Amino acid sequence: MNSGLRLYDTAARAVREFTPVSPGRVSLYLCGATVQAAPHIGHLRSGVNFDIAVRWLRSHGYQVTFVRNVTDIDDKILDVARREEVPWWAVAERNQRAFSHAYQVLGCLPPDLEPRATGHVPQMIALIRRLVERGHAYAAGGSVFFDVSSCPTYGALSGQRVEHMRAAGDTESVEAKRDPRDFVLWKAAKPGEPAWDTPWGPGRPGWHLECSAMATAYLGETFDIHGGGLDLVFPHHENEIAQSRAAGYGFARYWLHNGLVSTAGEKMSKSLGNSLAITEVLRKVRPAELRYYLGQAHYRSLIEFSPDALAEAAAAYRRIEGFVTRAAEVAPSAPGSLETLPRAFAAALDDDLGVPQALAVVHDAVRAGNNALAAGDTAGLGLSLAAIRGMLGVLGLDPLAEPWGVAVPAGDTAHLRGVVDALVGVALEQRAAARERKDYAAADAIRDRLRAAGVVVEDTPHGPRWELKQ
Ligand SMILES: [Zn+2]
Repeated sequence: MNSGLRLYDTAARAVREFTPVSPGRVSLYLCGATVQAAPHIGHLRSGVNFDIAVRWLRSHGYQVTFVRNVTDIDDKILDVARREEVPWWAVAERNQRAFSHAYQVLGCLPPDLEPRATGHVPQMIALIRRLVERGHAYAAGGSVFFDVSSCPTYGALSGQRVEHMRAAGDTESVEAKRDPRDFVLWKAAKPGEPAWDTPWGPGRPGWHLECSAMATAYLGETFDIHGGGLDLVFPHHENEIAQSRAAGYGFARYWLHNGLVSTAGEKMSKSLGNSLAITEVLRKVRPAELRYYLGQAHYRSLIEFSPDALAEAAAAYRRIEGFVTRAAEVAPSAPGSLETLPRAFAAALDDDLGVPQALAVVHDAVRAGNNALAAGDTAGLGLSLAAIRGMLGVLGLDPLAEPWGVAVPAGDTAHLRGVVDALVGVALEQRAAARERKDYAAADAIRDRLRAAGVVVEDTPHGPRWELKQ
């Protein structure tokens, strides 16, 4: 059945109707991090973009299996370990943890599976053996290489002709290769580096091989969507396709690539590089605001980072958040559902995940909702709020839902919120009494002391309201 969803497939260079291999199910593999350093906002853009994709697929009723790998063995990880004089696995573990934390902080739902490369060496050996047997790979100089000339469609994904290609970027046993464009599947062991035994000698996996082995291990020989950043199209994804097709697998049916975050126009300096680390950016904006910033552009577009654009995005999110929290005080609502989503919003996301158009629908609805709020139209407000929360839920931005919601209905948070609410209420009553007797100095002093404690009071036609500020 036609779901109405259309996605831009890099391999087809066109927007295609999305039809999964198995009705009602979607299998999605996303290239995750090579954990050599803590994440910066470019890494998390991919996380947010594909989180929205997964949420939208689930809104369609698909049962989604989302796999995002971790590359925990790599030249760069070994370099960091050597520099820091710590074990390679300590570097991988530390940074994987930082990534997991950042995904969680930005409200990205955890993948169904997060396989690590080093946990899948047997599957990789089986894939290499298959490629050698079928005449697509050869062992040389202790390494195993993929024979690019054996794959007539090599270059199709990235739109290159083999005769114009340069040598593969890997540096393993270059002199042992039959053709400089051949890429390494398995790297010969070097002294002092971790190695696993294989029929071709000890060594460690090549990056491209890892993803083919892990994707097919969990999603099958043919699966629906393979995602990653635009910088992975060549050589990583080109090589994944070559290996997997040469092994006789159908592999991914749709290739989705998110655009990158660039710092062009800014001086490329070390300090700028660090300033885009997630931990640094989160000193300037709250996690939900950063998520809004990274998710608001179309996933295929380039985001040119600028502090102004980040601040604008944060302000735009605060406008939405302000409406939702105010409206929820007047007209209680449950999180929305697919049925309550405005058609224009659904149509925007169905059109290759058009988040900018979808957000325009959200902002229009917020304007209408604010009018209903000002007019005291509680019924209209309730409808607006349900629709807006439904839309924000799909984007992972509902201020009242996990993980942003302060009004968590259970546990200590709710209890503490009640206590704080009562205490602030007492202070606000005293402030009102001071104003009544025209003692504005005392009234202002109460407000200032609350502000110093992180409680910001705002006077509205419905009386004073307060919120916690960082
Ligand atoms: Zn990959």
